[in-house]
Amino acid sequence: MQILDGIAVSNHIKEQLKQEVQELKARGGKTPHLAALLVGNNPASEAYVGSKVRTCEELGYGSILLRLETDITEAELLKEIEKLNDNPDVDGILVQLPLPKHISEDKVINTIHPDKDVDGFHPVSQGKMLLGQPGFLPATPYGILLMLEYYNIDITGMHCVVIGRSNIVGTPMSVLLSRNTKPGNATVTLTHSKTKNLKELTLQADVIVAAIGRPRYLTADMVKDGVIVIDVGINKVEDSSRKSGSRLVGDVDYDHVAPKCSYITPVPKGVGPMTICGLMKNTLEAAKKK
Ligand code: NDP
Repeated sequence: MQILDGIAVSNHIKEQLKQEVQELKARGGKTPHLAALLVGNNPASEAYVGSKVRTCEELGYGSILLRLETDITEAELLKEIEKLNDNPDVDGILVQLPLPKHISEDKVINTIHPDKDVDGFHPVSQGKMLLGQPGFLPATPYGILLMLEYYNIDITGMHCVVIGRSNIVGTPMSVLLSRNTKPGNATVTLTHSKTKNLKELTLQADVIVAAIGRPRYLTADMVKDGVIVIDVGINKVEDSSRKSGSRLVGDVDYDHVAPKCSYITPVPKGVGPMTICGLMKNTLEAAKKK
């Protein structure tokens, strides 16, 4: 069993990006610049957005973090996004999800200019992905592809079972794994909460991508020997042995599933850092287009 180390892979990619940015600047090109919007003060969102902004600094990108009150109206938030759309210095816009209930995530995503949609959530980005045209790939599935590429894991012809069909992880992942690209060319089954025979399907899977949001949901009896497991889930569970009283676990029962795997991503330090890499690569691409 080999652990797919998100920290090692992301460090490798970040070194490449750092170098590229230096070269870009030396040629008189534009410094990539990411604008992040955080509505409210959800601690998990604070942590995610904080690490994205820190990564910008580490790589030599510019960044702005706009903190907005939880009770900001939808119209006010859309106006902030429009200002960033019109700001020529900003290459990428990221709105940290989830948003408060009174704000439509769809409207917010649709308002981001497609040329600045570095999270890859806009309908234009998703449409291009579906058609195999160049564009911004959604950051998490993109990060997972980068990880498979780094470890030279060839999934051609394999049966991949993706669990979860969200617009930001499961659905785009299923599209990308089945495209005629490398990595890709897998036969994909996309499953969700209404899937009746999930265990039957996961037992047939050569690759499982778990993006459910339920702690340790995928158990050892649901996987075959030699499976490749990509655990996207980030769930906080109680842990009295920790000072904080909690810890993060994935959607996979790691301790029992890992011994059966050929490859597996841990949580934390698996897919999480790769998502940031996807975002950073998209932001650099956005700057290079200018
Ligand atoms: P969503 O809540 O949007 O989607 C969850 C999906 O899981 C839904 O499609 C749902 O089905 C499906 N699901 C729920 N219960 C079951 C079940 N019992 N059997 C099969 N499918 C089920 O979540 P996200 O896709 O946004 O995120 C998933 C997880 O990944 C979360 O833990 C999130 O925190 C994490 N995440 C991690 C990232 C990273 O960088 N590591 C980035 C993004 C997310 P249905 O559609 O029928 O409701």
